Amino acid sequence: MRKLVLASNNAGKLREFSSLLAPRGFELVPQGSLGVPEAEEPHPTFIENALAKARHASRLTGLPALADDSGVCVAALGGEPGVYSARYAALNGGEKSDAANNALVVERLRGVADRRAYYYAALVLVRSAHDPQPLIGEGLWWGEVLEHPRGDGGFGYDPYFFLPELGKTAAELSPDEKNRVSHRAQALAVLIGKLDGF
Ligand code: IMP
Repeated sequence: MRKLVLASNNAGKLREFSSLLAPRGFELVPQGSLGVPEAEEPHPTFIENALAKARHASRLTGLPALADDSGVCVAALGGEPGVYSARYAALNGGEKSDAANNALVVERLRGVADRRAYYYAALVLVRSAHDPQPLIGEGLWWGEVLEHPRGDGGFGYDPYFFLPELGKTAAELSPDEKNRVSHRAQALAVLIGKLDGF
């Protein structure tokens, strides 16, 4: 197995990425277990933030590294919260919590007919800190923002993120269901398609 450091300590992401990359011969190691602190995410695009996180983890471990960056983009809000999804309310005078983030999106969409939104994920794999050709996968998962939450699975914006074709919110899907269709799953599928020769 080839070791790959995951530039995240999120247990859910570790499980999800490991299950799909183990059959390709990769063993994922979370960066925290190698003493790597979280990288800054100062950039205005998901790709740049994911790349910064991957390079940071690779530089400190000497291993190839996998990183992701994601968020929710609401059409009627000009793509907000976007890269600022995790700290949307905090950047607008509120607290840094999922509840405050969701409350702000719902408030800004009050009376707005266009409820379309998508989750976006960028996944980046680097061979080394200075890899000139990182592998990149992107995924987009369209839905609609509800006014009231439904379901208690998932995290973040999931209870408000309704999938019309499934008739459920992302928080009403089982972890397995979500992992088959989510923005991260789609990005990972694209990345896996580029792994030959990595
Ligand atoms: P990160 O890429 O793990 O930093 O996630 C950024 C933020 O985007 C999270 O804190 C959530 O607010 C939001 N987000 C990303 N993916 C999801 C998802 O699958 N469900 C709900 N919220 C998400």
